Amino acid sequence: MTLKLPIYMDYHATTPVDPRVLEVMLPYFSQVFGNASSIDHIFGARAHEAVEKARGQVASTLNARPEEIIFTSGATESDNIALLGAAERLASKGDHIITCVTEHKAILDTAKHLEMMGKSVTYLPVDKYGMVDPADVEEAITDRTILISIMAANNEIGTIAPLKEIGKVAKEHGVLFHTDAAQAVGHTPIDVKEMGIDLLSLSGHKAYGPKGIGALYIKGANPKGKVSPVMFGGGHERGIRSGTYNVPGIVGLGKALEIAEKEMEAENARFREWTKLMFEAFQESIEGVILNGHPEKRLAHNLNVCFPGIESKALMHLLRHDIAVSAGSACTTMSVEPSHVLKAIGLSDREIYSAVRFGLGRQNNEEEIKHCINKVISSAKRLRKFNT
Ligand SMILES: *Cc1c(COP(=O)(O)O)cnc(C)c1O
Repeated sequence: MTLKLPIYMDYHATTPVDPRVLEVMLPYFSQVFGNASSIDHIFGARAHEAVEKARGQVASTLNARPEEIIFTSGATESDNIALLGAAERLASKGDHIITCVTEHKAILDTAKHLEMMGKSVTYLPVDKYGMVDPADVEEAITDRTILISIMAANNEIGTIAPLKEIGKVAKEHGVLFHTDAAQAVGHTPIDVKEMGIDLLSLSGHKAYGPKGIGALYIKGANPKGKVSPVMFGGGHERGIRSGTYNVPGIVGLGKALEIAEKEMEAENARFREWTKLMFEAFQESIEGVILNGHPEKRLAHNLNVCFPGIESKALMHLLRHDIAVSAGSACTTMSVEPSHVLKAIGLSDREIYSAVRFGLGRQNNEEEIKHCINKVISSAKRLRKFNT
């Protein structure tokens, strides 16, 4: 096999649409173009049927019921509906939200906005692995607490949260539990019933589906009892999310999650082997390499490491024709601020500037992994020599 360069290894930022997903989406752009709400004729009815099939596929991956799935434009919108919607809906019950310092900006900035609106937010710390302690969650609960929002898997370091334990705490105190599962759904098993999750955000493009589509799971028969809408219009999606259906996107999301559910286990076994291979090779040849995130409770396709004394931006520059990786969070590349996640797990600014995130994916192969290992090691050695 010939190696095709550059190799994409930034699957936490986004994933390509799986060809099997694209194939099922295509007819819904121009052939089956009906408005899924216009079910009085065959054009709309066929689109409606496709949307409902996808709703079933999404529900099935989460062990939810189809009517508990609300389609949105992505995890950012789902996070906004969950936090803003719950804060408004439950305002008579309380005004306090619990979240954590390593969340995605879609949660942190929404929480900041709520603080500006007079709500109170607790940002829980994490341990050196990026793990939230369920005991800390419990301790932070007051009689004004209405919502706990803790991400399922971290987009930078891959740490998987103790969702079941947090869900248990939430239930015992009668507080809603939301999780931003954009990085988890399609990558690690999620069961909303077993984990006691009330609200869950997911995204298509993090799991080989299209961009601009996502969903919010809302437990139970009455979504409006948990969240108020933040957008108004035709009353689609049980009044929670108005707007004409993105039918090709929805069909693609359904198919992507159906594929992930079937292939996740085998795929993860491969990723675990490759990340282990990479880390051990780096450790052997580059002095002082540090693994960021939890050694076991992590996304199989994530490898986040510090190469002390080597600036990740310089390393990435040397790698630019060979491997596409990320230094810190892709969503904050506009700012030169050190990653808030790596800061939260206790790394110094110097260590943070040496961190590289490898996000492996479905299209990588063994040859690419070997090329990556060789290229990273030779580039790191070049930079080390230059520095000393
Ligand atoms: C990518 C991501 C988001 C944003 O999802 P979009 O669908 O791109 O809006 C939110 N949270 C996490 C953890 C993510 O990784």
